[in-house]
Amino acid sequence: MEAGRRSSTKPVQSLKPTKTVSVDEDLTKASDALPLPLHLSNAVFFTLFFSAVYFLLSHWREKIRTSTPLSVVTFSEIIAILAFVASFIYLLGFFGIDFVQSLILRPQTEVWNSEDDDEVADVLLHKEDARKVPCGQALDCSLPPLPPPAPIVTVQKVLDENPVTVLTEEDEEIIKSVVAGTTPSYSLESKLGDCKRAAAIRREALQRLTGKSLEGLPLDGFDYESILGQCCEMPVGYVQIPVGIAGPLLINGREYSVPMATTEGCLVASTNRGCKAIHLSGGATSTLLRDGMTRAPVVRFGTAKRAADLKLYLEDPDNFDTLAVVFNRSSRFGRLQGIKCAIAGKNLYLRFTCTTGDAMGMNMVSKGVQNVLDFLQTDFPDMDVMGISGNFCSDKKPAAVNWIEGRGKSVVCEAIIKGDVVRKVLKTTVESLVELNMLKNLTGSAMAGALGGFNAHASNIVTAVYIATGQDPAQNVESSHCITMMEAVNDGKDLHISVTMPSIEVGTVGGGTQLASQSACLNLLGVKGASKESAGANSRMLAAVVAGAVLAGELSLMSALAAGQLVKSHMKYNRSNKDVSKASS
Ligand code: ADP
Repeated sequence: MEAGRRSSTKPVQSLKPTKTVSVDEDLTKASDALPLPLHLSNAVFFTLFFSAVYFLLSHWREKIRTSTPLSVVTFSEIIAILAFVASFIYLLGFFGIDFVQSLILRPQTEVWNSEDDDEVADVLLHKEDARKVPCGQALDCSLPPLPPPAPIVTVQKVLDENPVTVLTEEDEEIIKSVVAGTTPSYSLESKLGDCKRAAAIRREALQRLTGKSLEGLPLDGFDYESILGQCCEMPVGYVQIPVGIAGPLLINGREYSVPMATTEGCLVASTNRGCKAIHLSGGATSTLLRDGMTRAPVVRFGTAKRAADLKLYLEDPDNFDTLAVVFNRSSRFGRLQGIKCAIAGKNLYLRFTCTTGDAMGMNMVSKGVQNVLDFLQTDFPDMDVMGISGNFCSDKKPAAVNWIEGRGKSVVCEAIIKGDVVRKVLKTTVESLVELNMLKNLTGSAMAGALGGFNAHASNIVTAVYIATGQDPAQNVESSHCITMMEAVNDGKDLHISVTMPSIEVGTVGGGTQLASQSACLNLLGVKGASKESAGANSRMLAAVVAGAVLAGELSLMSALAAGQLVKSHMKYNRSNKDVSKASS
């Protein structure tokens, strides 16, 4: 991926979690006993401990030899005993108690340690960050204040009541029959009427059949009923993806905390920095240009002339109202906007566009299209429907038709970034950014023959937000179409940046949006479910957030590139010091 950050020479804080601290814990350590570096304190007390022990033992041996009672204690022995006790307490406090506590107590709260002096974090972790919510806090290196106890409200079923799945003897029989092939794996849910049990049995059968362990892929802690018939078939567990928060992203006067599900180091931090630059410059403005999901069936005739007849019929404005009535029967929300046709010989591609409310809308538009095709069959009985989707739609494939005509939500998002924010937060200059944008995002992409790829890394942000909010991640292909423009404004002092994204395909109802985790992320953005004010307002707002987050991501990565910091920050945040071979074994 392309993502990055800048660096400067100032001492700053690191994002590395170098130590785990309980917020309840007393932070005074045994090593604070002397105002010396840790290794010197340890050396002093070790020396003291062994010297005292040696001194006392040799003295007491001498006393025993000369028959002097041990109870007669000399001044030097008192000093030695005190030294022994002091050093013993220190060593126990340093090694013993910490060690025992680490075995007994689990840490409660991870905090980011601020020891590291990489300046990258200077940008991201600034204490004077004026923004109100969460990124500043989330990345703050100081110990967080204890939050007031809040009542825990369970809105949706997230975790199972029975966290550990135990297979019974009856299950064992079913596993054997799945392994033997007498019970089809796909039939387990309907056969057992218990989705979780079905998943556990399928999983065990799979392990036996393949001889491969699924350890590490969790089974417990997921509501398998919620995906039945909608999101995933034949489940055997679920993959965990961390969700980070970038923001607050200020768009059209509102702040959003943007959830991003990713395993890519730098991405959230980089987007967060972009959000900060936008916020400090007064926010971004996002404008919806159009909103319409498309579906394009392919139909075939005996002659090209007949295909052309249908094309002319569909494009005749006098026929639109009739077709719209037929189409709109499919849903309360699907409203036909237009039909665009393309001919290839005897074959006709009919690209229907319709509004879809808060749904991404693929099902909705497909139903409407089916209605129209059935209706057309009366006047065009020689029409052969070859496929409800003929790829002129175009879904999940790079295609110029989406780039030019748009699909889903077409959005343009812009901001004017103040010159001093470019310098202080992004650590580069307006001039460098404008020049690099021209060379990379415009000329470079043209040289590469790009199709909608006139940007630095829009797909990074689009995909992370899509996964977090339950969108179809495969639609990142066209949803990431984006042209990033940069221009010096206000006598060259400030930067005007915009992202134009013609095909953002998002919904806040249907598909994966109703699952517990994804729904929580939509809720965080304030766009969960169907909008109560006006149908489609939530999904349009989500599209604005996607575009705004892309704007932030573009700003930050381009700045990192302009400042020449990309490789450095990636080596730091994408290459942890963990021994990968150990982790994999
Ligand atoms: P998609 O068309 O994106 O695949 P689905 O068909 O799975 O989505 O989900 C849309 C469903 O949600 C439809 O049955 C629709 O009637 C219902 N729905 C409820 N409220 C809304 C709304 N505000 N906007 C769109 N659809 C809605």
